[in-house]
Amino acid sequence: MEGKKNVVIIGAGNGGVVTANQLAKNSNLSVTILDKSPFHVYQPGLVDFMFGDATPETITKETRLLLDRRVNFVQKKVVKADVENHKVIAEDGSEYNYDYLVISPGVTEKKKFNFPAWHDIDSVTKIKEGMADLNGKNVVVGYYGLIKCPAAPFEISFMLKRKYPKANVILLNPVAQPPKLQVPMANLLGQASKELGIQVKRGFKLSGVDGNTMVSEDGEKVQFDYAIIDSPIKVHKEFEDLSDDSGLIPVDKVSLKYKNFDNVYAIGDTTNITFPPKTGALAHFEAIHVAKSISNDINGGNKPLFDGRAMCAVYAGNSKGMMVYMDYEKSVAQGRNLVFYTSKKLFMSLYWASLTGSLDKMLDAFSSSLARTATKVSN
Ligand SMILES: Cc1cc2nc3c(=O)[nH]c(=O)nc-3n(C[C@H](O)[C@H](O)[C@H](O)COP(=O)(O)OP(=O)(O)OC[C@H]3O[C@@H](n4cnc5c(N)ncnc54)[C@H](O)[C@@H]3O)c2cc1C
Repeated sequence: MEGKKNVVIIGAGNGGVVTANQLAKNSNLSVTILDKSPFHVYQPGLVDFMFGDATPETITKETRLLLDRRVNFVQKKVVKADVENHKVIAEDGSEYNYDYLVISPGVTEKKKFNFPAWHDIDSVTKIKEGMADLNGKNVVVGYYGLIKCPAAPFEISFMLKRKYPKANVILLNPVAQPPKLQVPMANLLGQASKELGIQVKRGFKLSGVDGNTMVSEDGEKVQFDYAIIDSPIKVHKEFEDLSDDSGLIPVDKVSLKYKNFDNVYAIGDTTNITFPPKTGALAHFEAIHVAKSISNDINGGNKPLFDGRAMCAVYAGNSKGMMVYMDYEKSVAQGRNLVFYTSKKLFMSLYWASLTGSLDKMLDAFSSSLARTATKVSN
């Protein structure tokens, strides 16, 4: 190990595992990744699980099996990232010194109402268990702040309509006007909702739940028989000391470095980057950028500049899917068709390979080709 630089990664989720596997190839580095859980969940598959199209076993794998053998996996909860003293402290008091730190612990819930969010297998199991026959019922899907993957509430609404065609599905969307970067995606999702008879109430800012009635900030009321409501996100309490007023960890969006620390990066849901929105796709490309930045720093090379790219397939009603590309400047949404629906289904298996780096060339080529068709926006 002598002469090697230590990289410590907090969180073996989508961003953390990709970073670790990329860096493992660099023989000048010793890579340690800590996670409180021994398991890794493919979170987009939670939507499939909600509607019986996937099981917890198909969307969960042991983290150790996803990591390059050269990566040191430590199953411990991190309680502090001490960026002043270049060390990470675990719950049992053990300390991990680093030359480079990558913070990727994802997020937790900022809950105001008592609905199970759709962030993990236990909560989605509760949502599933509560779903009796919803035909003929008012079913509300909604959220009330910044969430992971803003396409998920639409996907859930489409799946509800497929399973319960006679349900009256109402989507409560607090965002009155989608940000310009998200307009192409929002237009296609809006089109699909209309075709399926889903009522989308944009600008509905949920402020209270009175029995079986949702009440908005401006007093609008929506009655429901069943509700699937996501919670907004914030940084885990162990990392609150690093966060800003947004409740997330500030980074320079081009370098992904934390504040003025040249050797500390943050990636994935935990950062204060909100455009493009929080997705595994963004965490993936951020991880590749950070691995390159660290490797170049060690081996001598240019400082790479991250363009904010993210690309994912989204369910778009019945057997149709769409492909969405976004970066800091431009976006495009293509579809809706069977090819992108199948791509989304296929990615449930391909995801595991994407973590190893074996799909990098394909993902890079595909995202670059989508980028060429994207329209520049000014937010
Ligand atoms: C229902 C749903 C649908 C989605 N659909 C899509 C989609 O279609 N496409 C897409 O690209 N993205 C989608 N996403 C979003 C995507 O899953 C997340 O953006 C992505 O997982 C973020 O990766 P991450 O590495 O930042 O965090 P995560 O993958 O959440 O990983 C964080 C890791 O950190 C660990 N951790 C947390 N705290 C600590 C601690 N104190 N100590 C040690 N370890 C810790 C956790 O155990 C976890 O393993 C969806 C998400 C949901 C919930």
